Amino acid sequence: MKTFMKKQKKKRFYKKSIWPSIVLFVIFTGSCVGMVLTFMVSFQGYLVDSKISDIHVDAVSLGRLIDLHMKDKTIFEAASFVEVYLEDDKDICITDEQHRILQHFGKTVPDFEREEHISVFAPFRVMTPYHLMPDLDLQRTDRDSILTLSFQEILKRSLDAFFNSSYEDDRWMEKPLFHEYYWAEIPVSKQGYRLYYRDSLTILQKNVFFMNMAVLAELVLLGVPAVLLFLNVCSSIAMQKRMVNLLYQDPVTGGNNWSYFLEQSKKILCHFRNTKYTYAIVSLHMIRYQDYCACNGSREGEALLKKIDGFLQISMDSGETFARFAKADFGLLLRSSSKEQCEKRMKKMLVELTGIKKDKMMSFSAGIYLLHPAANRKEKKRRQINIDQLYHFACAARGTMRGKDGEYIKVFDQQILQEQLWKHKVEETMEAALLNGEFKLYLQPKYHPVTEKIVGAEALVRWISPEDGLIPPNRFIPVFEENGFITRLDDYMILAVAKLQSEWKLMGLKQVPVSVNISRVNFVKEDLAEHICHLVDSYGAGHEGIELELTESAFFGNKERLMQILKELKMCGFCIAMDDFGAGYSSLNSLKDLPIDVLKLDMDFFRGEDEKQRGEIVVKETIRLAKALHMKIVAEGIEKKEQVEFLAEQGCDMIQGYYFAKPMPVEEFNERVKRDC
Ligand code: C2E
Ligand code: CA
Ligand code: CA
Repeated sequence: MKTFMKKQKKKRFYKKSIWPSIVLFVIFTGSCVGMVLTFMVSFQGYLVDSKISDIHVDAVSLGRLIDLHMKDKTIFEAASFVEVYLEDDKDICITDEQHRILQHFGKTVPDFEREEHISVFAPFRVMTPYHLMPDLDLQRTDRDSILTLSFQEILKRSLDAFFNSSYEDDRWMEKPLFHEYYWAEIPVSKQGYRLYYRDSLTILQKNVFFMNMAVLAELVLLGVPAVLLFLNVCSSIAMQKRMVNLLYQDPVTGGNNWSYFLEQSKKILCHFRNTKYTYAIVSLHMIRYQDYCACNGSREGEALLKKIDGFLQISMDSGETFARFAKADFGLLLRSSSKEQCEKRMKKMLVELTGIKKDKMMSFSAGIYLLHPAANRKEKKRRQINIDQLYHFACAARGTMRGKDGEYIKVFDQQILQEQLWKHKVEETMEAALLNGEFKLYLQPKYHPVTEKIVGAEALVRWISPEDGLIPPNRFIPVFEENGFITRLDDYMILAVAKLQSEWKLMGLKQVPVSVNISRVNFVKEDLAEHICHLVDSYGAGHEGIELELTESAFFGNKERLMQILKELKMCGFCIAMDDFGAGYSSLNSLKDLPIDVLKLDMDFFRGEDEKQRGEIVVKETIRLAKALHMKIVAEGIEKKEQVEFLAEQGCDMIQGYYFAKPMPVEEFNERVKRDC
């Protein structure tokens, strides 16, 4: 449920993208530019049209004047008469219908055959009334002039003028930006002739000044929000980048984090082109990273993780990915052609990794889950693939090597899968099993080696499952120790033993001391002694009838705290036994320091025929040592008569083993007590 919520949150974040801001920015800037351009083009159209209109007005007035004079004169005389009154730069020319020049008055001779008709680029001119003047016919005098009279041209020329003007000169506004001569047709009533006069089209700096100012104002008014919008888009992009970094960046290594790995791996594996390849999901682990940090400091530890991240980055091929999972554990997705090739590559990688810090001793291990090419259409989709689960399979494969020397790479196989499934089943059913009373108390008697009478017992649990029958403890105790459920089971067993003790009292049976196994996981409890007292007292059982067995591993760790708890337990009247003494890392020191009452020799002392003599010496000396320290000795796993005889000779106090009896149900034990006590 939690992961689902997380996914939803992520989705919402992606949906809240910066695209709306970008689109708004583009629309806004586009409309601003459009508005400015429209304004400039319309203004230019208006400007040119008004200038042409002036020429038109002049042409019409001239036409009227000539018409007036033509009443008593020829067209040539009328034209020469009018020409005298024209300004210096305005010439007159008479042509026939085909533009052939018949007479010319003035300095400039037109070349109508070569010239083209005026065409002013001003799209919005159609809006102005001046455009609709069919009787005005302008002729170009210069080939490349008027066609370029677009708004860009006016803008260019006005900007040139603006920047190149000397503003001390008061007359800069009167400077022409554009000045061209045209031949405009004069509308006259004389048939067979065409009459033209030369006029100029001039645009002054002051004509466009208003336009420039307006454009500038427009640019400022629209530009400020456009810039603000742009900054907003930039900050949104930067923000999203930061958010993506937060989502996908590992805070320690600065590389990819686990979310990135899960998403990227899924993307790679689900891509239809990749379904034909074998992939390996690897759980890479640095062994004893804690110790490394303890020796070199946590900063150095983090620096090492960064180095590992850097090394992995250069080791990845395209289409592969990796990320840190937790502590010094990394997840890798590698493409490989076969199991052998993958193992070879990982072997090389592990060797190279040990060398990334020349002066430090490091070792790594790797668990591998191989994902084979998709065999059918359904598999090809790989949509249901759960990378997290596959990574944990790889971790499980790595976990099976724990404590095995010289083995550093393990590929997940069917056997590990079965173990995983079993573990899963145990975890699914344990709560219900406890409630349903499926955990049964079994007792294994402890005998005196000489008198061969029952002097005690060990409480051992059995899981009688309706589905799987009798399940031995080694099938579920390690799982419970891993998930913490063992504390609940231990409480259950203490209660069962306390209840049994009070029942024996009621039944008038001999109350032999019973030892109960206390897992080291219990030692995290602050009030362990008080808690156990409370359990035992709930049945009114005497504390002296209960012995608490702790394995040696419980004696590692915080010794002061352990000492405190043991003292409290002893003060409550419980007997303390050290279980499996001699197995694993035995610490004679703990014998010296801790208040232990009973020493249980590990059954491994009595295995192996080859070293029998040496083993006997060790047992003999250990018994002597324990006796000197006023401890009682229990020998476990005794299966043979000669072992009992040897232990009796050495003064061993109790024997627990199949030679006398296997663990049995309470009813059977009660019968034994009646018989053997
Ligand atoms: P342990 O505490 O060392 O218990 C002794 C184990 O040795 C028992 O196995 C017992 O059946 C076995 N054993 C006794 N005599 C012989 C012998 O002569 N030959 C052989 N081959 N084995 C012998 P069991 O009952 O399977 O228990 C295994 C372990 O499970 C125990 O080892 C203990 O660590 C754990 N365990 C059992 N019950 C509990 C419990 O209630 N709480 C906790 N925390 N652990 C328990
Ligand atoms: Ca035990
Ligand atoms: Ca034991």
